[in-house]
Amino acid sequence: MAMDYGTAADLRIDLGALVANYCMIAAQVAPSAVAGVVKADAYGLGAITVSRALLEAGCRHFFVAHLCEAVALKPHLPADATLYILNGLRAGAEAECAGIGAVPVLNALAQIDAWAATARSLGRALPAVVQVDSGMSRLGLMPEELATLRAGPERLDGIDVQLVMTHLACADDPSSPVNADQRALFDQIAAQFPGVPRSIDNSGGALAQDVQHGDIVRAGIALYGGAPHGDPNPMAAVVALDAYIMQLRQVPAGTGVGYGLTHRCDRPSRIATISVGYADGWPRHVSNRGSAYIGGIRVPVVGRVSMDSMALDVTDLSADLLHPGAPVELLGPHQTIDAVAAQADTIGYEILTRLGSRYDRTYLPATLESIEP
Ligand SMILES: *Cc1c(COP(=O)(O)O)cnc(C)c1O
Repeated sequence: MAMDYGTAADLRIDLGALVANYCMIAAQVAPSAVAGVVKADAYGLGAITVSRALLEAGCRHFFVAHLCEAVALKPHLPADATLYILNGLRAGAEAECAGIGAVPVLNALAQIDAWAATARSLGRALPAVVQVDSGMSRLGLMPEELATLRAGPERLDGIDVQLVMTHLACADDPSSPVNADQRALFDQIAAQFPGVPRSIDNSGGALAQDVQHGDIVRAGIALYGGAPHGDPNPMAAVVALDAYIMQLRQVPAGTGVGYGLTHRCDRPSRIATISVGYADGWPRHVSNRGSAYIGGIRVPVVGRVSMDSMALDVTDLSADLLHPGAPVELLGPHQTIDAVAAQADTIGYEILTRLGSRYDRTYLPATLESIEP
């Protein structure tokens, strides 16, 4: 495998694990279809490459958040795949969306009216998803808007409603009673759209037991190996990230490390400066509390994370593991995205979506075995 010696770190994306995760979710929710949520460049992993792997595994539904993402991805999808835009359309974007053949999620009456007007002006029906707010207060039609729509169903004339959807606020916690409340309310609301397929679940909802998953689940984080429900995580790891040691120094007790000298060595110490910093998406919040692994051994982050580097205390490591250029595991078998997220007081989603642009990205191909059931 060719190494790019000019980058900050080596990011490996295992498309076989991605496909295995897709198949695992598909088996869980069958006969519901699994859509790939590939917004934010497939959570930082590369929307085009990820979509291609999902296509080969049989995926035919893809969700992005914005029209600009749809414009970039649509040419890479075959005609029988559907590309949806979760955030809907900003006024004025309708013609471009219709032009590329993407399917907007209509989140408000005004968006329905604008999409219907576009359909009239083009003289053809336009496909759409209608999202309803079942309790998260984020996006989707409110109860008053649904009542207005019931009183004036002709507002949907010219719109081919392909899906009615909602989003769960607490799907990451299957024990939350909110899930059942939202599902029950959505069942009532969806009855207003007879015969229209339904979509409710994200990754957390898709892995919930003993519930109806509707016609299409929208899986994001679980495809990428993140934990849908916290520990234990049943998903296969997709991402591995290795930085490298740039420099090593031996310093006496009392020496300060990094900006603000927020770490003071309490003993004679060996400090390794490694090649990833917050400009590479590594959270500055792990200053003095994060970790990395060298030769499978945990080493602490000491001092503040800099823009392009951070320091590790490697005093306890044997010398043969320590040399300039030696790899340092930031994500991999010893340190998951969720573990880093916990160090940084955030969620795995944020760790993934912030992964840096200065990485050498290698995709491990999906093998036939990972596609076959
Ligand atoms: C991002 C998103 C998803 C995917 O959520 P995961 O938790 O990553 O599976 C599904 N549905 C909607 C509406 C979203 O915004």
